[in-house]
Amino acid sequence: MDRVLVTLDGAVQDPGAPLLFADDIGALRGDGVFETVLVRDGKASALELHLARLRRSAEALELPDPDVAQWRTAVEAAAKEWGSDREGMLRMVLTRGREGAEVKRPGTGELSGPAPSLTGYVMVSPVADRVERVRSEGISVITLARGISTELATNAPWLLMGAKTLSYATNMAALRFAARMDADDVIFTSTEHRVLEGPRSTVVIQRDKQLLTPPARDGVLPGITQRALFAEAEKAGWKCEYKSLFTADLVTADSVWLLSSVTLAARVTTLDGLRMSAPECAAEITEMVDRGIDRAWNIADWN
Ligand code: PLP
Repeated sequence: MDRVLVTLDGAVQDPGAPLLFADDIGALRGDGVFETVLVRDGKASALELHLARLRRSAEALELPDPDVAQWRTAVEAAAKEWGSDREGMLRMVLTRGREGAEVKRPGTGELSGPAPSLTGYVMVSPVADRVERVRSEGISVITLARGISTELATNAPWLLMGAKTLSYATNMAALRFAARMDADDVIFTSTEHRVLEGPRSTVVIQRDKQLLTPPARDGVLPGITQRALFAEAEKAGWKCEYKSLFTADLVTADSVWLLSSVTLAARVTTLDGLRMSAPECAAEITEMVDRGIDRAWNIADWN
């Protein structure tokens, strides 16, 4: 099977053999967190940032703090096992464990039953065929309502806005809806017509020598690829800003990009049917993303 599977003890497992119990809460309720990481040259790109975000997501779900050293070892073993011949998509998956033994809020003494055990593993699979084409040719995108206000990120913590949870069913449904509309991808908008994010990507817009992205306080996942781009772009003299954007800002931008760890930079070529031609700096943006994720960024806060 074209997969690599590694458990948190660092052991390489048979990817064809079952791993989860039927009562795993990750499978029953999507109650867990994950990270998707690009494996390139046998190494996990921007690994420290992914580990930091895994901790942040776990905290939002009141899961125990992940043992970063253990995860790092498992990821490095998986990436090495995958090899350097081709890119891979690596997922770190952490769930609340088996029903009846689930971990409640740490330190509240609410636990009953058997000792808690989380489920955690790392899996690498091939990068989708479409990725090469999307990187070079771009994507058509439609805007779709997410049905939420940007205010909810601060006012409704139970919505887990900005945490990378395993509950991605609506994100995948939005992508299927887009496919029915002959579009490749989606940009979600808030009830105030503000730009949020893609179902699996960060939105960045470019105007002259300026890059803009919605701030985490608007309820979007803080993107690692976007941070890598901003860090590189600032060094190259670009002005980079976290700013609430409206859908009108997409239309008036010089270019719009969807950034994500595996696909990297995908330029929006059509937005709600409107063609967006490539700016002169398109290749520069792609190169900055590429360079950015190859460096070991050590960024403490998430804006
Ligand atoms: N927003 C959402 C909802 C995502 O699922 C992802 C991708 O994983 C991103 C943004 C982009 O984040 P990153 O660049 O860290 O992959």
